[in-house]
Amino acid sequence: MRFYSLRAAAKINLYLEIIGDRPDGFHELVMIMQSVALADQITVRAIGVDEIRVRCSHFEVPTDQTNLAYQAAALLAQEFPDQIAKFGGVEIAIEKNIPVGAGLAGGSANAAAVLVGLDLLWQLGLSQLELQDLGAKLGSDVPFCLMGGTAIATGRGEELDPLAGLEPLHVVLAKYQSLSVPTPWAYKAYREQFGDRYLNEPQQRQDRQQRVHSGAMVAAISQRDYATLGQELCNDFEKVVLPVHPQVAQLKATMANLGGLGTLMSGSGPTVFTLAETAAQAEEIAVGLRQAIPDEDLGIWPTHLTSTGIRLDP
Ligand code: ATP
Repeated sequence: MRFYSLRAAAKINLYLEIIGDRPDGFHELVMIMQSVALADQITVRAIGVDEIRVRCSHFEVPTDQTNLAYQAAALLAQEFPDQIAKFGGVEIAIEKNIPVGAGLAGGSANAAAVLVGLDLLWQLGLSQLELQDLGAKLGSDVPFCLMGGTAIATGRGEELDPLAGLEPLHVVLAKYQSLSVPTPWAYKAYREQFGDRYLNEPQQRQDRQQRVHSGAMVAAISQRDYATLGQELCNDFEKVVLPVHPQVAQLKATMANLGGLGTLMSGSGPTVFTLAETAAQAEEIAVGLRQAIPDEDLGIWPTHLTSTGIRLDP
């Protein structure tokens, strides 16, 4: 086959707690991650020349070496030089549906799709675990984007523990299109304001992770107790992002008033989501939100939760 087409799902964070600093400069986290059906379309196509090319439908996304999809291909080319010599280079086409700089891991999802696509195109025969190890070199969210579904993520986000799926649930995502929050800024702001609370002892950190593993949200997920799940939604980044972006705080308050199971900002924002029990309820929330905030800059995406991270199109 000369090309593969893949769907790369966005993620939301149902839970995100920042525990402390790590010696490698990253933050120690405990998160509960969830794939959603809103997805980018990635095509990897063999080209005759020994090059990596990226095309993208979104003007804000770079197509040079800073694109995470490019970096995924470059990593595989470096790790498996014989394969690129045998099969030639690749053109990566990205059709963006996931909003950019949104806290939905769009770039990480693209990188994950390229790893899966090139594994096929270059006949590498990598296992899921090998792909996840390579993914972790590209970004903390890439292993989860490869695995998909529902999972507890610890470490810097790359250590994954799968949980029971939440596929029956729906979700409404909303983001002011012109607003994006750089993740490095959010971490810096969090450290400045809450760094004195960071846990440094390994035992304290383990206890904190354990508290999430045996906590109310994980129990609610395994028991499919969606009402409790909605009440337990929690994201430390809200503490720094909402005060600086009152527009996002207002969006969250408006969405929370429209019914649904619970409302939260995803990742470092500024996307806010509301979980819903049915597609009809998600649609109602989306319509209600459009009426409550008739601002054209506000993008609204009703979608559903999914167990799939990267899906190969037939
Ligand atoms: P995360 O939740 O992982 O922090 P995000 O959803 O906030 O990610 P992305 O959409 O992944 O943010 O993009 C953040 C920045 O990364 C963009 O502004 C863009 O310049 C750059 N970028 C590099 N590669 C990509 C890509 N393939 N898709 C989108 N953005 C990319």
